[in-house]
Amino acid sequence: MSDSVSRRELLSAAMAAPFLGGISGLALGADAGMENYAAFANGKYVLPPLPYPYNALEPHIDEATMRLHHDKHHLGYVNGLNKALDELAEARRTGDFNLVKHWERELAFHGSGHFLHTLFWLNMGPKGGGTPTGSLAKAISRDFGSFKAFMAHFSAASKQVEASGWGILAYEPIARKLLVSQAEKHQNLTEWGVIPLLVLDVWEHAYYLKYQNDRGKYVDNWWNVVNWPFVQRRFEILEDIVLQYERRMNEGARRR
Ligand code: MN
Repeated sequence: MSDSVSRRELLSAAMAAPFLGGISGLALGADAGMENYAAFANGKYVLPPLPYPYNALEPHIDEATMRLHHDKHHLGYVNGLNKALDELAEARRTGDFNLVKHWERELAFHGSGHFLHTLFWLNMGPKGGGTPTGSLAKAISRDFGSFKAFMAHFSAASKQVEASGWGILAYEPIARKLLVSQAEKHQNLTEWGVIPLLVLDVWEHAYYLKYQNDRGKYVDNWWNVVNWPFVQRRFEILEDIVLQYERRMNEGARRR
């Protein structure tokens, strides 16, 4: 499938979908003036179009790199993510979970790849550089001391990622604090970009006194203590916030 065909198909698929709810899930592209920037459409993850021309980040990032990076590498993640989800659906259908570790690894690798690249294209732009303003500037000063100190920290973390990976500025919602993280590779069985809803600690310290090496029994019994009303409430509120985020990003794009 050629680049131009796939991009045209993606754009028309995105435009055919309802503006809110049906596409994206992130709707970040609205801020780049692309209301149809979709990373998810019609039940499948899709490659969002690059929100600016391939040569727009020259001379800092060259056109050839952008073409390969977006059209080949990011597309590979999208395809791998859809494949992993299909295989996990098949495992649930048949009850055969023998390959669950393999497909969860694939999900983490390709899922993180898709979610992070979707954000990466948008957190760059042809009129980039400078410094942040407003509440983000204040939060950076508060949590890192100064913008200069943040830049030094983020740069060092990025340069010292062992082998492949990412430097990440992240929001920690308990202390409402900014953190810098290194993601080595990006698939340590976690999809960056997701928000946990329900977690089960399977470190030995969580069960060893009672269950010793029988983690299976601990997991089976754990279902008896899950606080579903809490999980339900967390899910509802987070979904509200994400929808509000999508709406406000889209409104912001229309005003410009
Ligand atoms: Mn990449």
